[in-house]
Amino acid sequence: MGETLDESAAGRYKPAMNWLSNFVLPKIRAVVTKKAVPDNLWTKCPGCEQMFFHRELEANLHVCRNCGHHLRIGAEQRLKILFGDGGFTRIELPKTIVDPLKFRDRRRYAERLREGQAALGVGSDAVVVAHGQIDGSPCVVAAFEFQFMGGSMGIAAGEAVVTAAKLAVLQEAALILVPASGGARMQEGALSLMQMPRTILAADMVKEKGLPYIVLLTDPTTGGVSASFAMVGDITLAEPGAVVGFAGARVIEETIHEKLPDGFQRAEYLFDHGMVDLVVPRAELRTTLSRILGLLRDPHPSPAVSLGSPEAS
Ligand SMILES: [Zn+2]
Repeated sequence: MGETLDESAAGRYKPAMNWLSNFVLPKIRAVVTKKAVPDNLWTKCPGCEQMFFHRELEANLHVCRNCGHHLRIGAEQRLKILFGDGGFTRIELPKTIVDPLKFRDRRRYAERLREGQAALGVGSDAVVVAHGQIDGSPCVVAAFEFQFMGGSMGIAAGEAVVTAAKLAVLQEAALILVPASGGARMQEGALSLMQMPRTILAADMVKEKGLPYIVLLTDPTTGGVSASFAMVGDITLAEPGAVVGFAGARVIEETIHEKLPDGFQRAEYLFDHGMVDLVVPRAELRTTLSRILGLLRDPHPSPAVSLGSPEAS
């Protein structure tokens, strides 16, 4: 009798289990993984491995309170930090040719692009351009989104830099470029390399008008980006600890068969060797930029400010 009961019980529960595992479980998993516990709620500091709650990290501009490591941030966040309360207006970038080589590696390039666009909502490619004022100084900022295919520079990114430069000239504003990039976008072949001279010409356009061209090097600035517009700023700032270089340190070590010095390709090392003018902690970026822009745009402040009016003497 016992056996029959068990069998019937098994018979009754089997479909229920199927329903649970096929229908309910995936639903629960979807809810749990996508909404209730997003994987960005806690972040581990790459510098000291301490865990931080996302709100705490955000309040400190994504700088580790424990070791001072500057975590990578997105383009939108970068714009908020640079423009502060003054706010900014993002501009729509010109449409460019998409996937000109119909490139495919493990996956289609067009697919990777679509995925980046959907996940990040930064626009159609890796560079975001906005204009606004930093303490009253008009500025155009072009910020790279590293999460978008490693911030690599293809036709669209090049076009964004050129557009930003044109806008700066039009508005008689300073141009601030914030690279965060692995370099050229291999999926566009030689067309991506052509963005190097293009972006240099864009920078020249701003310089020829006597407008400030400032570069803020962030982690990482490498490859074709470091070999073009990123190294020709009138003033070059860098965030602490940012890796800035052309080829990776390991590749160089393997090529020259020599041990590289400590801190090689870091912002502080570049500062010591005259490649960077100032290493600026993220919290001080806006005030530093404001001071620099003030000096560049008005190098001869009125003596009346400190000496008082001539009638008084
Ligand atoms: Zn840390």
